[in-house]
Amino acid sequence: MTSSEKNNPAGDQILIGIGASPGIAIGPAYVLSGSCPVPVERAISADEVEGEIAHFRQALELARTQLREVRARVQDQTLAEHLYIIDTHLLILDDEMLVGGTITAIREQFVNAEGGLRRTLQRFRTIFDSIEDEYLRERRSDIDFVGNRLLRNLAGVAHHTLQQVVRPAVVVAHDLSPADTLLIDRELVTGFITDVGGRTSHTAILARSLGIPAVVGLESATLLVPADAPVIVDGSAGVVIVNPTEATFREYLGKKQVYDYRERELQAFRDLPPETLDGHRLTLRVNLELADDVPQALANRAEGVGLYRTEFLYMNRSAPPSEGEQLAIYREIVERMAPQPVTIRTLDVGGDKLVSEINLAGEANPALGLRAIRFSLKEVRLFRTQLRAILRASAHGKVRLLLPMISGVAEVRACRDHLEQAKAELRQEGLPFDPALPLGIMIETPAAVFIAELLARECDFFSVGTNDLIQYALAIDRGNEHVAYLYNPLHPAILRALGQTCSAGRKAGIAVGMCGEMAADPMCVPVLLALGFNELSMNAVEIPRVKRVLRQVRHADGVRLLERLMQLPTAREVSECLETEMARRFPELFARFGL
Ligand code: PEP
Ligand code: MG
Repeated sequence: MTSSEKNNPAGDQILIGIGASPGIAIGPAYVLSGSCPVPVERAISADEVEGEIAHFRQALELARTQLREVRARVQDQTLAEHLYIIDTHLLILDDEMLVGGTITAIREQFVNAEGGLRRTLQRFRTIFDSIEDEYLRERRSDIDFVGNRLLRNLAGVAHHTLQQVVRPAVVVAHDLSPADTLLIDRELVTGFITDVGGRTSHTAILARSLGIPAVVGLESATLLVPADAPVIVDGSAGVVIVNPTEATFREYLGKKQVYDYRERELQAFRDLPPETLDGHRLTLRVNLELADDVPQALANRAEGVGLYRTEFLYMNRSAPPSEGEQLAIYREIVERMAPQPVTIRTLDVGGDKLVSEINLAGEANPALGLRAIRFSLKEVRLFRTQLRAILRASAHGKVRLLLPMISGVAEVRACRDHLEQAKAELRQEGLPFDPALPLGIMIETPAAVFIAELLARECDFFSVGTNDLIQYALAIDRGNEHVAYLYNPLHPAILRALGQTCSAGRKAGIAVGMCGEMAADPMCVPVLLALGFNELSMNAVEIPRVKRVLRQVRHADGVRLLERLMQLPTAREVSECLETEMARRFPELFARFGL
């Protein structure tokens, strides 16, 4: 997304960027200037070489001390989770290409330490810029942060620090390093906006953990926002308003009050167990797409990952990820979520999820075509690589394997064969894995619902994907706005499909979870509870909302409500009945007002 500037006739100056952390902040701008000194490169004589190398080593040592200090000063439990970023930066300080490359440049090209470092950093940039994967490309920022720190140390320039902020303000910066962000004083920095950065940058992730509204990627905020100008940051919408009019100011003040009130209220539920008034417990897990979403999952007390969509690893790149690359990412997630389990779903491409290098073009009905498990069973080399990586990750924590879009027992058996062969290979190679790795399947085709009893004998758990189940059961393209009005999880056919799935799972004694969007709808909690789901998996921020409803209902009431809903013949009547009942029981939650 590119940033743009719009001036509304009433006088607001509107900047549009990327919403990195939700919420609204209002305050005077504190503009941090001078992102990094420009390195002064100088030719040196042979006599000066050792002196410059020593100067570079001192800068390295100082950077180590500075980063260790940051580490020691972070006391906050929520932030402790992020200290691995500082460890990554400490590791970069030992990187052979960075250290050895700079020393070689000083020694062989006769340039001063700043020149040698600048040339080495340039080499890193060229390599990172050629990476197509957005997530990995963004990791270049870690090298940049370390490089800038070293350049400042070499030039003897003090770090701009957020400690200079002495009264509440919205910080405007070219970029904020994770080390800066970790030391933010939440009382003083009410929000921040930056010229660079994306949603997956570490700084954005930290902002979310800190609960500080932030907009990044504004390109020229440091030029456009004058010091002390009043600023509104809408981190949910990715919008910044400079010099707001009276009317805009009042509007956002109201929005901020509603948002802050709801957030505070939700926090109260964070640490409470997810159980009903009559003691029925549900496991609330998180749906993940990126390793960087783990801190948010932990902050919202997710009891493990119910769905890790691995297809994002395969997108925007020219070749599929290798076994080693996958293992590194799976392992990172598994170790950071430990001791909670991580459910890794095998590649789900096709339909609306296209992966550039995988040629699926030309299918008349991609959603009914070579999608998900069908693709994996055709491209077995890719599938085996992924199974090996998942198995190897299971040596580092609790892993569950999940197969997408199963429509028959034969597919589960074929997958199990591949899994057993992958295990045999790993055994032969002496590579460790969990021999009892649970194997689960997505229930997201009508066929899977009809034969749920047969499928339950072949696997260890079910996870219902309502996004697809609704699409396939009601024959509605999930991405087609013309039929979106028909897309309703409360359609009587869907309620029956869910009921059949749960009862098949119960009879076979296996856990039944849901990871489609329906699981994240607080309104549906009593219904899902009564249907017999054991686990719900959703976006991290939804966990406290679902938990809040769960803790205020009784299983027995859910059962009675479900009985009533099952009598109703149309989706609309079911929805209306549920909405009326929930608005009556929880007026503060479901009566429609505000945000
Ligand atoms: C689903 O279909 O409900 C699901 C969780 O999978 P996805 O949205 O990734 O297809
Ligand atoms: Mg699906």
